[in-house]
Amino acid sequence: MRSITGWRFLVYIALPLVLASLGAINLSYELLRQVESSSDVVEHQRNRSVLNEAVSAAEADVLRIVSENAMLEETFHHSSGQVNAQWFKQTFSSNLSMGSAYDTIAVFDLPTGNMVYGFGQGAALKLESDVLGEHSLGSFATMMKLDTARRGAISGFLNTTRGPSVVAMAPIHSNADARVGNGRVLLLSKHLDARWLDSLQRQLLINGLDIVGGDDTRDTSLDLKSPDGRPVLSLVWRDRELGNIVTASSWSKAGIVLGFLILVMTGIAFVCWTLVRQLVDDEGKAKHNALHDHLTGLPNRMALMEAMAALEKQNKPYALAFADLDGFKEVNDSYGHEYGDRLLYMIGKGLRELAPEALMCARLGGDEFVALFAGRTSPDLSRAFASRLIGMLKHPFDLEGRIASVGASVGIAVRGGGEDALEMMRRADIAMYKAKTGGKNRHCTFDDSFDAERNENLSIATELKAILASRNLDIMFQPVVNARTGEITGVESLARWPSTSLRKVSADKFIGIAENSGLIDNLGELILEKACVHAAQWPGIRLAVNISAVQLNNPAFVRRSLEVLDKYGIEHNRVEFEITETSLINDTERAKQVFKELQDAGIKVALDDFGTGFSSIGYLRTFHFDRIKIDKSIVGKVLTSASELAIVQGTLLVARGLSAEVTAEGVEDAEQASVLRLAGCTELQGYHYHKPMVPSAVTDVLRKSAIAKTPRSQIVA
Ligand code: C2E
Ligand code: CA
Ligand code: CA
Repeated sequence: MRSITGWRFLVYIALPLVLASLGAINLSYELLRQVESSSDVVEHQRNRSVLNEAVSAAEADVLRIVSENAMLEETFHHSSGQVNAQWFKQTFSSNLSMGSAYDTIAVFDLPTGNMVYGFGQGAALKLESDVLGEHSLGSFATMMKLDTARRGAISGFLNTTRGPSVVAMAPIHSNADARVGNGRVLLLSKHLDARWLDSLQRQLLINGLDIVGGDDTRDTSLDLKSPDGRPVLSLVWRDRELGNIVTASSWSKAGIVLGFLILVMTGIAFVCWTLVRQLVDDEGKAKHNALHDHLTGLPNRMALMEAMAALEKQNKPYALAFADLDGFKEVNDSYGHEYGDRLLYMIGKGLRELAPEALMCARLGGDEFVALFAGRTSPDLSRAFASRLIGMLKHPFDLEGRIASVGASVGIAVRGGGEDALEMMRRADIAMYKAKTGGKNRHCTFDDSFDAERNENLSIATELKAILASRNLDIMFQPVVNARTGEITGVESLARWPSTSLRKVSADKFIGIAENSGLIDNLGELILEKACVHAAQWPGIRLAVNISAVQLNNPAFVRRSLEVLDKYGIEHNRVEFEITETSLINDTERAKQVFKELQDAGIKVALDDFGTGFSSIGYLRTFHFDRIKIDKSIVGKVLTSASELAIVQGTLLVARGLSAEVTAEGVEDAEQASVLRLAGCTELQGYHYHKPMVPSAVTDVLRKSAIAKTPRSQIVA
């Protein structure tokens, strides 16, 4: 999962961020490169244009001076005929200083092309080539004639024997009339020497300025031409790498910006990574939560079903041990949910230790746990686990000072063939239920007969519903007699499956089915009503009615019972409700409350089947029973077992202390009767005296005993 996350992160977050960063870097680089090359172009163009201007200015200067001087009357005068060298030297040499617009002056004779006067750089010049280089004046003469706009003045560049120079020449003419010339030409020139270059370089801030001969092909060259248009020389220079200078500082700033950008991107990447990690973690947690019980941390029902499905796919044999806690509700009710949760947590933790061989220990919810075993030995492993669990739960739990006692009923289902997970759960559940109804704290392995039994129970429940609707329930009564006199003091009502039904169902059985199918409240009420109908005919006789503990949970139980008694005119103090002790442990507080309400209304409460369950002296004290009925299983053994007799004797002692009466039930012979009577039982019940009988039989028996008691004289009368 991690590596998938890593890939996802790479593809969806890291890669786009890296690409974006690279794009930004590339863009910045391109921009700077563009700035750099643009700067270079600008620099180059500036250099060319300022140089051009400077050179043009120098040319224009000499041209202007030549033009002005060629038309001076004095120049005209002194150059006509024999040149007045003296005058020329005086007039022009004052300007021949360094840095002036010209450094050479010459006068040419136009017809011959000869130099008639020449002076430059402090000396008289003799040769035409000193001034014109390889050119002759002739070639320029036509041009001067044509250039009338500037009065024939022309300019350009020449290579002379003394180096390259900028020259301007104009025909000397009269000031008054330009058409009147004296056949002479005035020439001024300025040599482009090292000094000139140097000053130009300094003024214009151009590096590496130099002169090369002819036509230079370099980009950084300015070609200068002679007045007749021939390439003469080139000025070359070196462009400063302005782009580099400009971008040098930008690069460092761009570096900072990019660094910041990368930092931000890394930050974003980190935040995204953290978020993705968190999402994945949350997803993992959600998955874990979906498959686990939050309280115990054990896998839940869904996880168990998945595990079973996986085993089925592999066609592996497996077995389930399905444990339901007994008495957990009581812990919850008496100590609160917090303690209940603590108990579940402890049991959940203990489960793994009890079932190290289990493939999975799961909590299904509430107080239900399952251990799943795989392999051929799984049935044995399940049973061994169930025994260990039941054994462990025999020891009470210490929940931070509160002692809690629970048990477990475990149902085991073994996969034999094609059962699926749901069917396996159903089977384990039925087996668990069987263990529970079989007396709890035991385990039971599902077999097919359970289904038959279940189906039969379902069918009985259906029939029972019909019986309740038609109120066609039979009822019998078994008299209870005074232990000393044998007189009938009361009757116990016993429900009977209708004789009209095609099947026979024992009271134990249909009462149990009614309890488990939600019919017990209606059934109990019907029995009480029927019992009252008959008891109304037997005044003075106590009526004992069996009550299921499940009925105690019905909040309307006491009110409804009193309503029935009142409806049939049965005095409350004639009535006794019998409740079995095993059923009472489930909800002690509730039972206590109901008993108090009944006793407050005058109804007596008897503890039925005493000696079969977990009764203790403390238990008897808790409930304040009006009567204790010693179970027939103990009664049956009082003659053969000293310990059973001791139980009876002990019970009687305690009962006497609690001012409760003691009845022994299931008395089948005279010997038992006399032992129990001697032990102190106040009343006896059993086949030895009367079997359960139909109401009319009770009426008969009662009449007979009344006759027996009546003095003979009265009968005759
Ligand atoms: P229980 O309340 O202990 O009822 C006494 C049972 O013992 C009755 O069985 C009765 O027929 C039987 N019995 C009486 N004397 C003797 C004897 O000397 N020897 C032997 N072996 N048995 C004797 P029954 O009627 O089959 O009832 C069984 C149980 O079904 C009752 O036990 C009671 O727990 C339950 N039950 C019966 N009727 C009702 C009822 O109307 N309501 C409720 N809630 N439970 C009932
Ligand atoms: Ca009873
Ligand atoms: Ca009983």
